[in-house]
Amino acid sequence: MNAEIISIGTELLMGELTDTNASWIAGRLPPLGIQLQWVSIIGDDLPKLTQAFRDGMARSDIIFTTGGLGPTQDDLTREAVAAALDETPQVQEAELDNLRQWFRNRGQDMPAHNVKQAHLIPSAAFITNRNGTAPGWWAQRDGKHVICMPGPPGENRAMWADEIDHRLKSMIDTEVTITRNIKTLGLGEASVDEIVSEYFGLENPYLGIYSKADGIHLRIIARAADAAAARSMIAPVEDAIHDRLAPYIWGYDDETPELSVGAALLQRGLTLSTMESVSGGFLANTITEAPDSSQWYRGGSVAYTIPALLAQGVDAVILETHGVVSQQTANAMARTAQIATASDFAIGVTGVLGPHEFEGHRPGTIHIAIAHGSDVREFPLRTPPRRLVIKRRSCNTALTELRKLISDVAP
Ligand code: AMP
Ligand code: MG
Repeated sequence: MNAEIISIGTELLMGELTDTNASWIAGRLPPLGIQLQWVSIIGDDLPKLTQAFRDGMARSDIIFTTGGLGPTQDDLTREAVAAALDETPQVQEAELDNLRQWFRNRGQDMPAHNVKQAHLIPSAAFITNRNGTAPGWWAQRDGKHVICMPGPPGENRAMWADEIDHRLKSMIDTEVTITRNIKTLGLGEASVDEIVSEYFGLENPYLGIYSKADGIHLRIIARAADAAAARSMIAPVEDAIHDRLAPYIWGYDDETPELSVGAALLQRGLTLSTMESVSGGFLANTITEAPDSSQWYRGGSVAYTIPALLAQGVDAVILETHGVVSQQTANAMARTAQIATASDFAIGVTGVLGPHEFEGHRPGTIHIAIAHGSDVREFPLRTPPRRLVIKRRSCNTALTELRKLISDVAP
């Protein structure tokens, strides 16, 4: 079955409100085996909405909408569905009683405008709204479904869980969609694209490539009669990607760099410490996003100036000879943190945040070092010269390189 989503409300078109409902609904559809093919945003405009429902019913099996179910004049979703289906809404006494009761429970009289919310057309049924006054509408005609939900996320998500998800499941027993996300760092998007190019362009399994803050992600999507069949379609593509990109792969699916590092260290009983200048604590903050980090992270320092680096115990001769922004200083930072905390691994990060050059280096010049045993691995890096990008890239590079190193030295 294919579907489309219409997000309704003029405030969405004015840039005042971000359409988070559509992406939330979109995320629920693949496991149900429903293929989303269109998402539109339409203002509170009866002719345009009516046309959208007519077009939608001609091309999609299911139309999901959010918004426009309120009691006010500009809430026109019901009117537009009725017009598109050429039916006349009638007030439903039972629903009117429910609404009156809803207000009575809150010690209020129902405003006259809310009567609108108790109207229904013959082709539709109400969808109960546990968190608000506006019931949804589920209209059905000629095998097509129009499912209208209220705009507030708290209301439509509860409605989805209570009323919509299981009904969709029972309607659609044909296919499931399984995805596998493979996360790489160290190669540009074009290089990754070239290396796995022969797998692009297939419809099922489908391969997509996405550039993210933590590297290039490859997503394999397969549709089949059941999960096992879908997984067996994914496996050969995943194996081929692994063969070609293994040195760059640091994680899968929902893994983040810190979760991936944490799981690997915990499993091996190993520990980590950090000393950072340019990332200003971003690295320590990211690491401690992992809920179990106290079990493997021994701590870190932010040494943002030369006196701070000296106070942490970084060798003055190294700072003087090579400068703060140097691989040698990054190496010394990692080694100093490693010794101070007696940790198995330590990361040192130095560089230039900008906006001005420092020691003749331009913003975005980064040196990362990872100490392990008596060995230090060096990772010089250049990032675009924006402060947050510099912090994020240096942090993600340090953690993903560490993740790969852990597998190399302690398989
Ligand atoms: P409405 O049902 O159109 O009156 O919308 C009521 C409220 O729901 C809006 O003021 C927003 O706070 C929220 N809302 C409506 N549509 C969306 C959307 N597409 N994404 C996120 N929030 C929304
Ligand atoms: Mg609205």
